[in-house]
This record gives sequence, C-alpha cells and structure tokens, in this order.
Amino acid sequence: MSSEPERRFRTELLEWGEENRREYSWREPDRTLYEVFVAEFFLTQTPADNVGAVYPRFLELFPTLDEIADANEDELVEVIEPLGFQNMRAQALKRIASTHDHLPTRAESLMELPRVGRYVANATLCFARGDRLPVLDRNVERVYSRVFRDVWTETEADQLAFTEKLVPDEARTYNLTLLDFGALICQTEPLCEQCFANEYCDYFRESSRGT
Ligand code: SF4
Repeated sequence: MSSEPERRFRTELLEWGEENRREYSWREPDRTLYEVFVAEFFLTQTPADNVGAVYPRFLELFPTLDEIADANEDELVEVIEPLGFQNMRAQALKRIASTHDHLPTRAESLMELPRVGRYVANATLCFARGDRLPVLDRNVERVYSRVFRDVWTETEADQLAFTEKLVPDEARTYNLTLLDFGALICQTEPLCEQCFANEYCDYFRESSRGT
C-alpha cells in the first residue's frame, strides 16, 4: 500500500515527464533488447552525450551479439575507446557474445553476465520490454533518499522493496522520467524551488526548517 506522498510523487513525476523527458536514440520504442542492453552497459560509467557519440557506429558494426562474437577484441576496443574502460568493456562483451546467441530475459540471468549489475539488468528489461522493475542508479537513489528520507534505508533489499512498490504499470515511462528528474531537477545541488515535490519532500521540509 502506497502512502499519499508516494502516490503524489508517482503521479506528478509522470506529469513532469510529459514536458521534460529527454530523447536519446536508445530510447526509441522499437529498440531491441540487445540495442537497449548495449546503451545501458555503456551508460553505467559514462555520460549520455559521450555514449551518443559512439552508439550509432557501434550498432552499425555490431548489430547483434553474433558480430561481436566474430570480431577481433581490438576492433571492439577501438570503437569503445572514446567511452573509457574500453578493454574491460570489450572483454566483457566478447565473453557475453561467445557464450550467448541471445540475451536472457530474466534480471537474475542477465546479472550473471560479466560486468552486469542490477541496474543494467533491470534497465534493459524495463526499457526494452516494459517489465515492471525498479531502476535504481546513483541519481535515482539520491531522489528517493531525499523525497522519502524519513523511511529510506541504506539496505539494498529494503531499497528494492520500497522502489518496487512505487513503479506503476507504465514502468518504462516512469523509470525513464525518474532518471531525467534526477539529472535535471533533483541534482547534487537540487533545484527545490522549481520542483513539484517540494510540498511533501522530506529533504526540502527539513532543510527549510534550518534556514
Ligand atoms: S524538493 Fe528538492 S530535494 Fe526534494 S525532490 Fe525536489 S529537488 Fe529533490
């Protein structure tokens, strides 16, 4: 059962997203599971603009796992190099492609792949298939830990349980909007005066008391 602030946050976030959600080529609705996976695999440690500069060429050269399996690792490294961590990323992609014709469609199975954690697994399945999964990266964690500061804990299992119940049926739209809200409004230096949640955000209420 969601609390009133939780229900309001979910509704108002989706409304905010109608005007503010960002567009990236990997967010196009007809992207395959593999294409979304590649984007999320790169986005974990790299800004979106950098990924955008490499993503089209990568997919042109390696449109499926088959082409990665056939490629020389140096070819992968050369394409990925502008993103950084190119050796680690190329090795992981080669290992995945050499053992899989297709990517798994369960989060737990995706998380068994090299260098794939909960974020990449859930984001891939949610953004490619609409699976109703929480997508929790550092930015999203910052948002939740502020708005719901009084009930937020540092335990990963508790965080997942809390965020799971907030994800609505429109999981894809909700999670994409949440990522953008964390990047554009609830930044490290939050823009609280512009924020729809400032009537019930625990962080804002507590910081306003101190001023
Ligand atoms: S009021 Fe401030 S701290 Fe709270 S969610 Fe909005 S931007 Fe973040």
